[in-house]
Amino acid sequence: MFDVESIRKDFPILDKQVYGKPLVYLDNAATTQKPRQVIDSISDCYLNTNANVHRGLHFLSEEATRQMENARETVRRFIGAGSTQEIIFTRGTTESLNLLAHSFTRAFIKPGDEVIVSCMEHHSNIVPWQLEAQKSGLALKVIPMDDRGNLDMEAFEGMLSDRTRLVSVTHVSNVLGTVNPIRDIVRIAHAHGVPVAVDGAQSVPHTGIDVQALDVDFLAFSGHKIYGPTGVGVLYGRKSLLEQMPPYQGGGEMIGRVSFEKTTYNELPYKFEAGTPDYVGVIALASALDYVTGIGIDAIAEYEHSLLDYAVERLSAIDGLRFIGTPAVRSGVVSFLVKDIFPSDMGTLLDHLGIAVRTGHHCAQPLMDRLGIPGTVRASVSFYNTRQEIDALAAGIERVAGMF
Ligand code: PMP
Repeated sequence: MFDVESIRKDFPILDKQVYGKPLVYLDNAATTQKPRQVIDSISDCYLNTNANVHRGLHFLSEEATRQMENARETVRRFIGAGSTQEIIFTRGTTESLNLLAHSFTRAFIKPGDEVIVSCMEHHSNIVPWQLEAQKSGLALKVIPMDDRGNLDMEAFEGMLSDRTRLVSVTHVSNVLGTVNPIRDIVRIAHAHGVPVAVDGAQSVPHTGIDVQALDVDFLAFSGHKIYGPTGVGVLYGRKSLLEQMPPYQGGGEMIGRVSFEKTTYNELPYKFEAGTPDYVGVIALASALDYVTGIGIDAIAEYEHSLLDYAVERLSAIDGLRFIGTPAVRSGVVSFLVKDIFPSDMGTLLDHLGIAVRTGHHCAQPLMDRLGIPGTVRASVSFYNTRQEIDALAAGIERVAGMF
């Protein structure tokens, strides 16, 4: 049995009232709330072990370094990577993907080469490639989808050519909830000798991922979407590829030896970690992963899946509501529109009932163009949400719809 009531006790903010109503927090795809264990980890770092990592020989610096490197091991285990040298700490998914685009392009892209993304990417997996395209002459190819929000795998297979250098796709769509068939994507891409990068921002927290079992070459995710602090994230990369890629930023721990004539770089993963890292954030991220592991990612996935099924069932009964995205396999989010009510009006009125959802284009404007809509209303769940909260959402939507 999944004991959601006892889990909720770990998240103090969930007891909050907004506008005199109990908070119903259904904006977990934007960011998750933090358990007391993570908050305590942050204060414990500042109270007991704060010192800059790596360069100090003194007690506190060594302790902070030890905790940060333990955190790297926790991340490695959590995503099933083979080595901590493959775990690079960043500011989040966006920085991970910018690092990847920058360094991968410099190492492997020549004018006319191609990178394949999908039509349901977050801007974070589009714009970094466009920035690099301006400098390198790479071309972006886009995998289409059907009207339900499933990728067109046949079209994908037809797109791979001897110019394709990388496939970079989201695991789970932050708008449609589609769980993309990463195993098939990897199989097809690898058969052409093409590596695969996965945006795991919406999958790592909800379904988990095992990079070795799936054989993915890169994985990006954010700490704040998996119950950790803001400002910290991860880029996993296959060692043999990372070794060939140049640094992204310069300064700090990323150097081997610096002179005005020639600078050499540190070994992995430090080559990609310039400047003082957010070691407090990294240590707290490990607490978050420990917390998730304590509940169990499979139990989380199962519970959230049943909650989403329930949401789809309850919302289906609402007159004038249409779902945006009815994918074959769904995780985390449900997007919808009601009659011709603007998403922002729906969001504002739900907010006054204490219900937090997200509205708009969700940083996926090309997907909105594909769907022919300016935006959606999106409810996104976590393991701390309850069926009663889904009931409150359904009742709230009906009440708002009744006003129009
Ligand atoms: N990719 C996806 C699929 C996302 O949902 C998000 C966050 N909405 C991002 C990338 C960017 O994450 P961050 O803002 O934490 O860098």
